[in-house]
Amino acid sequence: MDKKPIEQCIEISTNPYDYLKKWKIDNKKKIISCFAMHIPEEIVFASGMLPVISWRSNESVTMGHSHVATFNCGLTRSFIDDLVKEKLDFIDGIVVNRMCLQAQGLPFLLEQASKVPYIEYLSLPALYDEKVSYNYLLDEFNRFKTGLEKVSGNTITDATLNNAIDIYNKNRELLSEIYELRRKNPGIIKGKEMHAVVHSSMLMSKDINNTLLEKVVEELNNRKQTLLKDDRIKVITYGGLCQTVNSEILDIIEDLGMVIVDDDIFVGSKYFANPVEKTGDLYESLANRYMLKTPPCPTKGDYKTDWTDYIIEVAEKNNAKGIISLMIKYCPPHMCYYPDIKNKLAAKGIPEILVEVEHEIISFEQVKTRLQTFVEILQGV
Ligand code: SF4
Repeated sequence: MDKKPIEQCIEISTNPYDYLKKWKIDNKKKIISCFAMHIPEEIVFASGMLPVISWRSNESVTMGHSHVATFNCGLTRSFIDDLVKEKLDFIDGIVVNRMCLQAQGLPFLLEQASKVPYIEYLSLPALYDEKVSYNYLLDEFNRFKTGLEKVSGNTITDATLNNAIDIYNKNRELLSEIYELRRKNPGIIKGKEMHAVVHSSMLMSKDINNTLLEKVVEELNNRKQTLLKDDRIKVITYGGLCQTVNSEILDIIEDLGMVIVDDDIFVGSKYFANPVEKTGDLYESLANRYMLKTPPCPTKGDYKTDWTDYIIEVAEKNNAKGIISLMIKYCPPHMCYYPDIKNKLAAKGIPEILVEVEHEIISFEQVKTRLQTFVEILQGV
């Protein structure tokens, strides 16, 4: 019997290597790995190649240790490890945006570790209100387009880009619909299932993924009972930049009697927030989306938009009793903002707990103990 749609998402998310190798043989197209978080994938798609968001493997870093420091985040360490282990030999190109210290270090690491023929470094600018950021962004998009045309051998026309934007917007719409189903019926989908659903979109050609997501909507509408039936404590998660969160952590949250009702994480609502509003020139439309200040992103250097206010808004909208900060270990952008977020939430009396997401977690006991204490606090609120 065929696997159910959500099971298919989990399978692809767990083993992107086999899925993408087969996809490449079947479709005879190049695959471009886009390092999270803000690469305009639509331009890659319009060139006839497949953009996929770079992922971390489920193996411990071993050979990569000789190339990348142990104090790098899990994604950069695991990605380099995969490259030196030749697990990503089917990838035809890598695109990196110099958005944080660790991404800025990648050019040097990739030079040593990668045999991938096409590597592009984009410098997508900080969100200053002055026109200079916007114009610079458009120049970068234009440079990116020219490079992609050379690698793909195809011309990116307005028609192909327009089609790509439509397909991507449809994908955002479907993911938003699935999130809305969870908001209305928390527990209808488990945390790790939702994570895999969003991750599948990052790994698949969006047109194929759209068909799968339509079936996910149908599957959820047909679920007679919520998976998590009893009266649970609603929480939201935020943080989790660039990379997947260990599914064990999501399971522990639920095993302890909480339910994630919404989030502000990258493999989550951050990824599909805001459609591209087409306003004539398509590159300007893509630039307008990048320049939006919500959901706030600590890598965009926008110090005027308050991330904490945004997180509180998400929590209040969902009647969540608590906030779980999922912080990727050694992620400077989140670490810089965290003390302020923690203090502001404490001042407002909103319960919050920090859980560090590590690439290699040897024991989840500590995480469980921390979250158990958090549940006890929430039960007393
Ligand atoms: S933003 Fe954080 S998780 Fe993303 S690449 Fe930079 S350090 Fe790693």
